[in-house]
Amino acid sequence: MSDRPTPAPRPATEFADRHIGPDADERAAMLEAVGYASTADLMAAALPDSILSAPGAPAPLDLPEPVGEAAALAELRALADRNRVLVSMIGQGYYDTVTPPVIRRNVLENPAWYTAYTPYQPEISQGRLEALLNFQTMVADLTGLPVAGASLLDEATAAAEAMTLARRVDRKKRSVFVVDADVFEQTLAVLRTRAEPLGIDLVVADLSEGLPDVDAFGVLVQYPAASGQVRDVRPVVEAAHERDALAVVAADILALTLLRSPGELGADVAVGSTQRFGVPMGFGGPHAAYMAVRQGLQRQLPGRLVGVSVDAAGRPAYRLALQTREQHIRREKATSNICTAQVLLAVMAGMYAVHHGPDGLRAIAERVHRRTAELAAGLRGAGVEVLTDSFFDTLRVRVPARAADVVRAARDLGVNLFLADADTVGLSCDETTTPEHVQTVLRAFGAQTPPDGADVSSALPADLVRDVDYLDHPVFHTHRSETSLLRYLRRLADRDLALDRTMIPLGSCTMKLNATAEMEAVSWPAFAGLHPFAPLDQAEGLVRIVRDLETWLAEITGYDAVSLQPNAGSQGEFAGLLAIRGYHRSRGEQRRDVCLIPGSAHGTNAASAVMAGMRVTVVACDDGGNIDLDDLRAKIADTGDELAALMVTYPSTHGVYEETITEVCRLVHEAGGQVYVDGANLNALVGWARPGEFGADVSHLNLHKTFCIPHGGGGPGVGPVAVRAHLADFLPNHPARTEAGPHTGAGPVAAAPFGSAGILPISWAYIRMMGERGLRAATENAVLAANYVARRLAPYYPVLYTGPNGLVAHECVIDIRGLHKRTGISNDDITKRLVDYGFHAPTMSFPVPGTLMVEPTESEDLAELDRFVDAMIAIRAEIDRVADGGYDREDNPLKNAPHTAEALTADDWKHAYSREEAAYPLPGLRQNKYWAPVGRIDQAYGDRNLVCACPPPEAFGD
Ligand SMILES: *Cc1c(COP(=O)(O)O)cnc(C)c1O
Repeated sequence: MSDRPTPAPRPATEFADRHIGPDADERAAMLEAVGYASTADLMAAALPDSILSAPGAPAPLDLPEPVGEAAALAELRALADRNRVLVSMIGQGYYDTVTPPVIRRNVLENPAWYTAYTPYQPEISQGRLEALLNFQTMVADLTGLPVAGASLLDEATAAAEAMTLARRVDRKKRSVFVVDADVFEQTLAVLRTRAEPLGIDLVVADLSEGLPDVDAFGVLVQYPAASGQVRDVRPVVEAAHERDALAVVAADILALTLLRSPGELGADVAVGSTQRFGVPMGFGGPHAAYMAVRQGLQRQLPGRLVGVSVDAAGRPAYRLALQTREQHIRREKATSNICTAQVLLAVMAGMYAVHHGPDGLRAIAERVHRRTAELAAGLRGAGVEVLTDSFFDTLRVRVPARAADVVRAARDLGVNLFLADADTVGLSCDETTTPEHVQTVLRAFGAQTPPDGADVSSALPADLVRDVDYLDHPVFHTHRSETSLLRYLRRLADRDLALDRTMIPLGSCTMKLNATAEMEAVSWPAFAGLHPFAPLDQAEGLVRIVRDLETWLAEITGYDAVSLQPNAGSQGEFAGLLAIRGYHRSRGEQRRDVCLIPGSAHGTNAASAVMAGMRVTVVACDDGGNIDLDDLRAKIADTGDELAALMVTYPSTHGVYEETITEVCRLVHEAGGQVYVDGANLNALVGWARPGEFGADVSHLNLHKTFCIPHGGGGPGVGPVAVRAHLADFLPNHPARTEAGPHTGAGPVAAAPFGSAGILPISWAYIRMMGERGLRAATENAVLAANYVARRLAPYYPVLYTGPNGLVAHECVIDIRGLHKRTGISNDDITKRLVDYGFHAPTMSFPVPGTLMVEPTESEDLAELDRFVDAMIAIRAEIDRVADGGYDREDNPLKNAPHTAEALTADDWKHAYSREEAAYPLPGLRQNKYWAPVGRIDQAYGDRNLVCACPPPEAFGD
């Protein structure tokens, strides 16, 4: 027993008091340290009056009165009851699947997995990096291509990424991309949205008749096709290669367990969804898409790639590879704008393969195929025309003029089918399809059960049957018992630092509480089981959540219309810029194509601008971190009537409320441009100021930052785009669902009509439980916490930027460059040493190289804030010892951090400092110690020796 005094019991409180870390006493102490009497005073001093509706006053929010956790869950339960989950045989890229309970509870519902951040700090991310490596290995094996990335956002955007990849590598700089007509409607629609601004000419053709006579840089064909037909893609691939074009195959991951792989058939790139590997449909998402490429294209891969490197002891260790391709480094020259991807879902899909192993997956696929064959035989036996002769799981059935009737009859019997056209019904079997379902569907067609002895032999073309093994790595064989898999999941989770162990003070990422009550509804079958193209009257509850959120987010941001379709912030940026593009074009101002972006902007901004067909001009910042108004004026003048937009983050990426923002907006508007405010920092504004009111035209928000969707180790995310009325006609829409957006819209930016609808209950619950007062208090506490931390750190580390009254917004940038110069200790050394102290590092070198950006959020209580500050102060003392010679400049606890238990307990400890100093620099660590599983990782080694699949167990020695 500890002899600390027991704290006084807290009185019964509202949810907001549990979401917000500091209680009233702690808040008072923090306010005193910062020098303000109340959080309202602090806000009035920190925010420029120009962004407020009234001087010194918060923005009133018209939101429902908040309710507690139990009541919110009861409301969600009632909404869930308004959904009706029928048996889904719609297919079209979404299939019902059984999430193994051991994966549901221990990954999807486990904060150790879902509250983790993107694995930029590899030493504290070895668990999820291994899980992602499993995913990559699984995709590489099944696609027959050597290098697979660690997930993309969905199949349709992955196809679009493959298209732009093919164009990047085309030496002839051609502009035509050919797409087979038999691809999913949403894939084609997203390709169109993405092709148009880039000047890519999409040619859609029936490729079973050969490649049309066009000079294309790439070709995309689906395998099996959307109609279900399994065609040999070799003729298309060979024709593409003859013309020096890249062949992209969009492939069904389950079908690949039985079919020859795209790689074997010659494809350069394979893309697809891994949803049906144990990830619920969730009315459209989130799910992990995949992309795999042949040797030679790995440097062109969009999104993240996990690779193997070595740590300080020479042991294999995982980390993100080839990061210099990515938007945060390459900006407008990046391979894509993808930042947040779909890590949690990739982990689930990879674990599904670990759970089932190759034999289990093959058995599932064979069962799915057999059910489909039974259906085909039953229909044919009844004289119904089945159009698909070679199939895996999907059929097209011809019922002249009766298709709608059949679909309705099936629905009355509890099964959703796909209405392909007035004469054609589509249906797909999946892992959950039973013989009873087959009989029900036959009845809907007016057919009998398959007569005994009906031919249900394989309908896979003989020369496409797979004879190459897959998943022979031991990880896909050793966890067949649930005990073993449970312990494997636990072992991996234990290697990582997530929010369930420590604050994650990452600037710009807003790693706040993901409350359990917010998370609960996500795995309810009434939400998780809905197909994205199920009739809307079966999804009333979820549609209500969509509409509520649209309304509430519009109210919070001061905009007029919101689309929830973009499935990450980057995609919201793209959608918002498309809206600007559409607006200019509607006014005959095609020539407006320049996007001004401050040098301090997040890398996605520039990458998104390029995707939206814009040219990027960088605007300088002054020494105070603010947009340099003189430079802005000059750039606006230079750009003239080609100015499309200014893209700016508010509060700035420097963590301050720039006082000139309204002036900036005015200058851009006067020149005929539109203002895009990157809303990633909305956590500093909610309830106080509204971008739609203080001059911006469009913003994206990150529900996985401000609105409590967990980061999932690097996704999922939701990046709604919010616009003022004049841009509303140009929001995303969807071909399968007129309700998803304006008919005048830009087309879909994601595969599903409402994006990752399955996780919207999280943000809905947050707003519902916080209400106006709670949300405003969250903002105030976030700003208070940042200023408290800045105030306490300032004597040890200079705070680089401050705004009005010397205050920061919700995060602060501390400068390490001076210390580095004097002592040789870099911000990298500090972040690694923080691991020994049990902390996840702050954001490193963004927006300024050689700095750290700290965002504590409102959810951390005073004790945790102090624990972090104390660690930083102790590290500063260690740096001082390096400076005064007390520590060797090279052999010191900072340079050698993090210290593994193995290194600390080795018999030959040769360092000039003690083991105790290395392991327990602060007394509190004796009770609560995180042990880094690997030492510092050599980044360059891994990029020179690229390995992106599971290494053999021998690599780890004994
Ligand atoms: C996080 C972030 C983004 C990108 O959002 P994703 O959801 O990761 O795509 C863009 N801008 C800023 C300032 C951010 O912090």
